[in-house]
Parts: sequence; C-alpha cells; structure tokens
Amino acid sequence: MPSARKRLTFDEYFKGILAADRIILGKALSLLESTLETDRELAVKLIEQLLPYTGKSQRIGITGVPGAGKSTLIEALGKYLTSLGKKVAVLTVDPSSRLTKGSILGDKTRMEELSADPLAYIRPSPAGTTPGGTAARTRESILLCEAAGFEIIIVETVGVGQTETAVKDMITGGGDDLQTIKKGILELADGIVINKADGDNAVLAQKTAMDIGNTLQYFGSNAEVEILTASALYKQGIVELWAMITHYFEQEGTEGVFANRKQQSLHWMHDTIKEKLYRDFYQKTDLKPIIKELETKVLALETAPINAAQELLKIYKSK
Ligand code: GDP
Repeated sequence: MPSARKRLTFDEYFKGILAADRIILGKALSLLESTLETDRELAVKLIEQLLPYTGKSQRIGITGVPGAGKSTLIEALGKYLTSLGKKVAVLTVDPSSRLTKGSILGDKTRMEELSADPLAYIRPSPAGTTPGGTAARTRESILLCEAAGFEIIIVETVGVGQTETAVKDMITGGGDDLQTIKKGILELADGIVINKADGDNAVLAQKTAMDIGNTLQYFGSNAEVEILTASALYKQGIVELWAMITHYFEQEGTEGVFANRKQQSLHWMHDTIKEKLYRDFYQKTDLKPIIKELETKVLALETAPINAAQELLKIYKSK
C-alpha cells in the first residue's frame, strides 16, 4: 500500500481506481482539489484516460434548503440501495462550507450508518473558490467514482438554499418575486419529496404536496413531475422514492439521459473555461497591485465598480 506522503504515479492512480481501491480513489479525489499546475495536469490526464470506463451509473442530484433532511434522506435511500446489493457513492456538501455553519448541523455525525456500509462510499464534495470550480470538480468526482465501479452516484447540494438566501438578500419584501423564484426551482426538479411527513407534520406535508402539485399544474410547465411525501427519519417512503427515481430513468430512456449528459458535457466545458480564466486573472502577478489600487478606489467611492472591473479587464487582455 502506498504511504500517505508518497505521490502516486499516473499508473497507480489509474489501476487503483479501476480496481476499486478506496484509498487510491480517495487520493485521486483529493488530487482533483489541488490547484497545483502539475496536479491539475495529472488529474486531467486521469479523467481523460478513465472516460471510457465512466457514464454507466445512475446519477442522482438531491437539493433542498439546509435542515430539510437531505443527509437523513440520502442515508435512508443509500441503505435501502445497498440492501439491494447496489454500490452507492455519495458526494455530500462539505458541512464546513455550509452557510448555516453548525447551527443546524450541530455536532451530528452525518450518515453514520451509511459510512460504515462496505457497499457505500461517502465523500464531501470539494468546495471550490472559483466560479464553476465546485461544479467542475463534482463532475470529475462523479467520473472517478463511476470508473471505480459505483452504480449509483448521489450528489447532495444546497443550491436551493443558497439561491433563496441570495434572493432574500436582494429583495426586501420578497412576495411575488420570491414565489416566482421558488416556482423556477420547482420547475427544475425531476421529482419532489416533501420530507418530515411524520407526527404532527404529516398532515401539513400532505397539504404542501397537494399545493405544489396544483401550482405546477396551474403553470402547466412541469405538470408531469412526481411529488412524494416521505419521512427520512422513520424510513418511510424510501421504497416509493426509489420507484419514483427508477420510473424517471425509464421514462427518460437512454436517449433522454444521453441527451442530458451531452448537455452536461457542454456545461463542463464552459465551467472549465470560466474557472481557468478566473484563476488566470487572479494569478497574474503584475495585475495584483492594480487590483489592490482599484479596490481602494472602489471602497473610497472614487470609481464605480463597473469602471474598475472594465479597466482591469482591459489591462488583463492587453497582457
Ligand atoms: P440537511 O441539512 O438537509 O442535510 O438535513 P439533515 O438530514 O441534517 O436533517 C436536519 C434535521 O431534521 C435533523 O435534526 C434530522 O434528524 C431532522 N430530520 C430529517 N429527516 C426527518 C424526518 O423525516 N422527520 C423528522 N421529524 N425529522 C427529520
């Protein structure tokens, strides 16, 4: 077994991942997060060479506001899937990168049962600092997990929470606009789960499911989407959730999923460009003092942010 410090060679990564070696997979996933140019090159080569071994998993994205019960639900679903003999990889949101640090999560260990399951592999999603960075890394992580033989990949994100928070910051009074945004999020979903449908909350959950159904029906755009109630805590509705997901994959068929993946490849390309440009911009040493200078001017209200940005971009392009 390679020591923790030794850098692995391309071959060691490549063969280790294909042999489903978890330690090497873990190291490869860490390699993806490195911003060192040599690591990046190795990572890109690895992804390229592993591509023929990818694409065969069922990829499932789960999103919802913090505290909605995503990790509880993923654990329940994951345990159900491993009980069917399936190999499940979960890319979770790194708790430290969450907006609501600690307050909601407390000291709770996330997905304890699933972590101990030999058929499951759990890994925090890398939190990128560059635009497109997180998305690009997550995509690459999915590919590595697929090459390592995982059949189902669950990706947890807090996208909805973040959007809503950002929106709340911008709109005072919220109201209609916020509703529109919420509707937009619902329209993006391929399936909706109203969690915590237990105890005193059960009736409210049913009502919420009906309301959402009516809203989507009314707007007509996403009327097909299935809406379920579940209790992740009491493991209720999990079989139904898996049936809903399976049904979705069947309906989409290979063609639909394939078209989706093609689209994702385009996003991947553009995210990579965004990330590279961003990094290149901020790594230019001769630009750094000018950035500082303009930051000071913006703070002192001596120049408008847009003008400062345009000036910087002009200098960047001329380099
Ligand atoms: P996340 O932030 O969306 O990942 O939410 P968590 O899975 O961490 O859950 C947040 C809190 O809600 C925890 O205290 C859970 O125990 C609780 N919770 C999660 N699912 C359910 C459920 O189905 N019913 C009830 N009553 N509580 C739940």
